[in-house]
Amino acid sequence: MSSKKTPIATDRYKRLVETSNDLIWSLDAQGRFTFVNDAAARRIYGYSVEEMVGKSFSDVMSPEHAARDTQVFEEIKAGNRAFNYRTVHRRKDGGPVHLSFNAVVELSQTGEVIGTTGTATDISDMVRYAAELERSEERYRLLFENATEPIGVAQDGRIVFFNKAVIEATGYSAEEISAMSFVELIHPDDRAAAVDRHTRRLRGENLPTSYVLRTVRKCGEVRHMNLNGVSIVWDGRPATLNFFSDITARVHAEAELEFQAYHDPLTGLPNRALFADRLNLALARARRHQEPIAVLYADLDHLKRVNDTLGHTFGDLLLQQAALRFRSLVREEDTVARFGGDEFVVLLGRVKDGTVAARVAEKLVARMNEPMDVGTHVLRVTTSVGVASWPADGDDAETLLKNADNALYQSKEQGRNTYRMFAPAMNERVQRRLAIEQSMVRAVETSQFTVVYQAQHDMRAPRIVGYEALLRWKDEGLGDVPPATFIPLAEETRLIETIGDWVLERVLMDARRFPPETRLAVNVSALQLRDLRFPKRVAELLSLYDFPAHRLELELTESATIADDDNILAALCELRRLGVRIAVDDFGTGYASLSYLRRLSVDMVKIDKSFIAGVGESPADSAIVLGIMGMAHGLDLVAVAEGVETEAQRDFLSVAGCDIAQGFLLGRPLPIEELGLCAQ
Ligand code: C2E
Ligand code: CA
Ligand code: CA
Repeated sequence: MSSKKTPIATDRYKRLVETSNDLIWSLDAQGRFTFVNDAAARRIYGYSVEEMVGKSFSDVMSPEHAARDTQVFEEIKAGNRAFNYRTVHRRKDGGPVHLSFNAVVELSQTGEVIGTTGTATDISDMVRYAAELERSEERYRLLFENATEPIGVAQDGRIVFFNKAVIEATGYSAEEISAMSFVELIHPDDRAAAVDRHTRRLRGENLPTSYVLRTVRKCGEVRHMNLNGVSIVWDGRPATLNFFSDITARVHAEAELEFQAYHDPLTGLPNRALFADRLNLALARARRHQEPIAVLYADLDHLKRVNDTLGHTFGDLLLQQAALRFRSLVREEDTVARFGGDEFVVLLGRVKDGTVAARVAEKLVARMNEPMDVGTHVLRVTTSVGVASWPADGDDAETLLKNADNALYQSKEQGRNTYRMFAPAMNERVQRRLAIEQSMVRAVETSQFTVVYQAQHDMRAPRIVGYEALLRWKDEGLGDVPPATFIPLAEETRLIETIGDWVLERVLMDARRFPPETRLAVNVSALQLRDLRFPKRVAELLSLYDFPAHRLELELTESATIADDDNILAALCELRRLGVRIAVDDFGTGYASLSYLRRLSVDMVKIDKSFIAGVGESPADSAIVLGIMGMAHGLDLVAVAEGVETEAQRDFLSVAGCDIAQGFLLGRPLPIEELGLCAQ
């Protein structure tokens, strides 16, 4: 090194020292600063070089570390020629500064210690980062460990890292899990899909990160898990970080809801929606294999009666038993559904020919008719069944069901407890029925109805005591529609309430044209009586047209439900209180009995014309008519015979003591103008 270059070298060192980030320092043997670089001193300690030089080392020590600092420096001076250690000093502003010291001892030429010198690096930031890192690691560890949802890192088919929740979720110990492959935890049926997804993801395919799979616990229990997988690098190699969440409860709840949506809650049988699905599937199959299928529409007759008399609990038990019977009569692959109420529908697959469906229907009717143990009662129900098959009776589900229903309707008309195969002729009847229903609505709106009157004769004196009002309807398209056809339809569609009200008002409007003291009889439907407002309506019309209540007769056809219906019983009482007379119509055809008549507390019975037709010819009919007559008189009721067509019938009835007669012999139902009434 030439002497010429020395100043330059010194300059360079000086600059290096001045620009150094680290503190460069020298202490004398007494521990006083003899040198520091100004910039670093200001930054690290907050002192200028002037302030610093001459200060004792102990002046910058922090009280907590002073003892050790002193000791270390003594050691350096004592022989450790080079030394590195970390400590905390105090800045001018009182704050701490973390320093990493490198120190060497300075010796004189004679070997005496004349001081120490070295560098000090400000490591405050590093210390703070380290502390923070430690804290955040601790936080992550806590989060991971205490997460209630299982989390695991999978690599090379194994779970290499996992939290406690994985142990809880699988039922395996940590050791067992570490030794297992990932797929072993997955339900066998879901493994192939899981592996496939995994390999596709590794190949870089963009798949949804979350999917559902089933896992199997050590005890064999199946759980449904939502798995969210994230690709990560673990120990330098690809891995997936898997977040599981147990959705078993939700899956079960959904399955339950799904079941409820497609099943009848009472019997557990498929409902209409599921049946429609199955029928469509069966139709597709049937077309493919050209194999007929059949739909059986069944209806328990008189379920309503059980509900009304024994209560709904029994009705429900009955339906459940019925469901079991239905099921027991068909093959496993056949579907039995409940469409609600008393309607059951059976789908028979693969029926070779029509006779198979007919045989099943026959078996159904017979089996259902056997006595049924329902709690404390043994009940007997009858069933009506209608059958429609593919391909003969319809090509789609809707048509098949409709036609099976038509056939059912037919079997009910045939007297129930039987089955009917669908026949195209039924369709025409149904078409007409529909047409009537639709026209009836129009007829009500445009008042196409009229009323005719049929005289009622006193049997003991030749005089007319009253007239029965009978409804007539002539439709432009349909022609004359007999009430026996449209009244039941009006009852089904509840149009009867409007129609019945119209008849009553029409009759009361006509009333002043009849001779005083003749009674007017109006037929009412049970449905009208069931309306709690009916008696009030009658009273209203009576006063509106100023017609005395005792001249109005209401004829009510006897039927099963009347005597059990509290509303009707109440209505009848109320009407009688008004002074209106009540007649039981078509007596003998239904359920009427002595006790029934007593409960109803009526004024008259009208013996059904089917019995009158037989009197004098059929000993049985004669006996029945005599019996009814005796019973009526025994109860102080007026006996009326309807449908009297011959002299012989009239003579028989007269001898038998009948009070009033009505029939074609005595007068046909006629429009009021043709009755030959003398205007009052
Ligand atoms: P119903 O109350 O038993 O009426 C008597 C039916 O027998 C009437 O038939 C009448 O025309 C018919 N008839 C009268 N005399 C003879 C006879 O000597 N021989 C035969 N074979 N029949 C005779 P219609 O008018 O067809 O009424 C049928 C049924 O329709 C009525 O039976 C009644 O149940 C119902 N109905 C009629 N008008 C009304 C109404 O305004 N309201 C309600 N709810 N039902 C009505
Ligand atoms: Ca009548
Ligand atoms: Ca009648």
